[in-house]
Amino acid sequence: MKFKIAVIKGDGIGPEIVDQAIRVIDKIAEKYNHTFDFSFCLAGGSAIDATGNTLPEETIEICRESDSILLGAVGGPKWDAMPSGNRPENALLGIRSKLDLFANIRPAIMYNALSDACPIRKEFISDGFDMVIVRELTGDVYFGEKGRTQSGGVTTGYDIMKYSETEVERIGRRAFEMAMKRSKKLCSVDKANVLETSRVWRETMHRIREEYPEVDYSDMYVDNAAMQLVRNPGQFDVIVTGNLFGDILSDEASMITGSIGMLPSASLNETGFGMYEPIHGSAPDITGKGIANPIATILSTAMMMRYSLNLADEASAIETAVEKVLDLGYRTADLGKDYLSTSEITDKIISYI
Ligand code: NAD
Repeated sequence: MKFKIAVIKGDGIGPEIVDQAIRVIDKIAEKYNHTFDFSFCLAGGSAIDATGNTLPEETIEICRESDSILLGAVGGPKWDAMPSGNRPENALLGIRSKLDLFANIRPAIMYNALSDACPIRKEFISDGFDMVIVRELTGDVYFGEKGRTQSGGVTTGYDIMKYSETEVERIGRRAFEMAMKRSKKLCSVDKANVLETSRVWRETMHRIREEYPEVDYSDMYVDNAAMQLVRNPGQFDVIVTGNLFGDILSDEASMITGSIGMLPSASLNETGFGMYEPIHGSAPDITGKGIANPIATILSTAMMMRYSLNLADEASAIETAVEKVLDLGYRTADLGKDYLSTSEITDKIISYI
């Protein structure tokens, strides 16, 4: 089969890790007889340098014409003084909102071989964990009306939190469908004891759960969820939540795996089209040293194959190869003392595909 992939290498370690992910895709192409055409485009700091604009229109056009988007990471100290609205991070918000990528899917898996990197005491993670957080990405307090008022010399800031039933329904269904494909267990996280937005969220989730009677569904308040994630992460399979709570909980979940360089993510629209990227940033402190861990980006390509390109066997081949390499004790600098370079660990992964 033939696929067109828009590639945004981005800034910092972005180009280093995306180059390795492309080598893995090329290996999949060779083994499974596919053709992947890559269209390289700019976003973030490198786009600002080249065009003055963090998200050139041409990039959006290329993304729209592609089957999927692969992104490294954007940002870095060089662009920290850019005016808000044209900062590297605005490129990500722009792509998400222009392409309606409302569903952020983030797996958080503790690999057996990396259990020593987990900051939680062993007795709490004896069974390991393998969860997916489904976070709504284009609504909530981040996209509500915001502003400042002045009164009596005191400045007050406000950001309005809101969710419509329609927004909750589409992310809710996406989460139920994800649960159906996994172990049929879904936990919806909100703050319905305090927030009206959350009450609408919860009522809507309860309505659509009628459509998925096989799913073992539960509700949890966000403060409890934050606690349960470190007390007993193995209790979760799929978690669904809004943009703000998801932002915080998904970082917490990734932190307890102990390895920021390992975790992939997907941001999907209604049709399954999506952008795939590692959860980490552009790591300016290690840029150019050849030691960045490419595995989060490589696993992002596996997610791309599974969720957007309908290539489940190819996705599993990548995931199995990564696991094998870790089981054999190969590590990058963020994971161990005797380490392989960015390209050497990729060589190992490719050799097991
Ligand atoms: P970061 O994730 O870039 O780095 C945090 C720490 O993790 C650093 O010590 C870094 O060296 C390490 N690290 C990250 N990825 C790694 C990898 N693949 N291999 C080995 N080590 C890795 O977060 P930060 O330092 O807060 O942000 C740096 C820049 O990245 C900022 O400009 C920020 O805005 C941007 N950022 C971008 C994204 C994105 O593009 N999606 C996400 C987060 C941060």
